[in-house]
Amino acid sequence: MSEAQAIQDAALQYQCPPQGLLDRIILVTGAGDGIGRAVSLALADHGATVILLGRTQNKLEAVYDEIKKRGGPEPALAPVNLEVATPADYAELAGLFEGEFDRLDGLLHNASMLGEITPLDHYPTGTWNSVMQVNVNAQLQLTQALLPLLRQSEDASLLFTSSGVGRQARAFWGAYAVSKFANEGMMQIFAQELDKTSSIRVNSINPGATRTRMRAAAYPGEDPQSLPAPADLVAPYLYLLGPASQGVNGQALDAQRK
Ligand code: NDP
Repeated sequence: MSEAQAIQDAALQYQCPPQGLLDRIILVTGAGDGIGRAVSLALADHGATVILLGRTQNKLEAVYDEIKKRGGPEPALAPVNLEVATPADYAELAGLFEGEFDRLDGLLHNASMLGEITPLDHYPTGTWNSVMQVNVNAQLQLTQALLPLLRQSEDASLLFTSSGVGRQARAFWGAYAVSKFANEGMMQIFAQELDKTSSIRVNSINPGATRTRMRAAAYPGEDPQSLPAPADLVAPYLYLLGPASQGVNGQALDAQRK
């Protein structure tokens, strides 16, 4: 078995101990809904303090309330619209986190937008720019702002969210597919640049078909009940964001068995 396959198996089979993420401080983007919400709840269930970043305040507050109800560590809220936020906004945010926490142990880039399913030939420029801003530019700029805090951790994890169409392109998936290829490229470059010069590991995860709003928008004719729920695929996220994956760097993993 190859090393990559062994890591993939370890991620899929991972059973996080009850307090396996105790005292970790992890920021999740798109934490108010879908996979980001489920991963945020699971991180808190295992002891992590989660910084919930998203654009819809009431969704973030609902996740906050749910974490508190389940007895998790008090989360922090970061209402940010990644489509319009600037590097100055991210610097301000990093300053706020620095005042509250002395480090960051994990950053999950999960938020993204689908844009339109349409031929590249006709792809609307405005939608293209929005998708690239949320799915690519914002991820770079947020990472740049938070790297000093990630560097303060003895064991930090930077995790990008990919997609099947970000590894093998598919007709009509337009800006979304191109943005996911860009995420894989950004992951590989950060993984090489941070290797041996920091304790930050960098990987990507493809959730696979999952019952969320985004999936329903992409496949309106599909029965959502035929898909796993976000809560069913949190194990590989806990593996990649927690101590179990120390030393795993530059890997492109799947959250579901193919
Ligand atoms: P959802 O649409 O359910 O959730 C996306 C989250 O991103 C929402 O919380 C949304 O906020 C947030 N978001 C979107 N735009 C912005 C923005 N401009 N600023 C801040 N937050 C924003 O999608 P999924 O849970 O399905 O997707 C999560 C990740 O998984 C994405 O990266 C997606 O590409 C990837 N993925 C999903 C698959 C699937 O089958 N579901 C398959 C492959 C990859 P709000 O709720 O406020 O709109």
